[in-house]
Amino acid sequence: MATVTQMKCACEPCLCIVDISKAIQKDGQYYCSEGCASGHGDNSKGCGHTGCNCH
Ligand SMILES: [Zn+2]
Ligand SMILES: [Zn+2]
Repeated sequence: MATVTQMKCACEPCLCIVDISKAIQKDGQYYCSEGCASGHGDNSKGCGHTGCNCH
């Protein structure tokens, strides 16, 4: 039985794959970082993960 434990970050331009057990969950979606979870508001930067240019 395969259980999904990883998902792509729900942040649209974000390429990160997040582990559901560690992801930041918001509105039923999973994000790789607080910045992504908050929709990259005012003072949020990209998630800072290597190779990810989201912001
Ligand atoms: Zn990311
Ligand atoms: Zn993001």
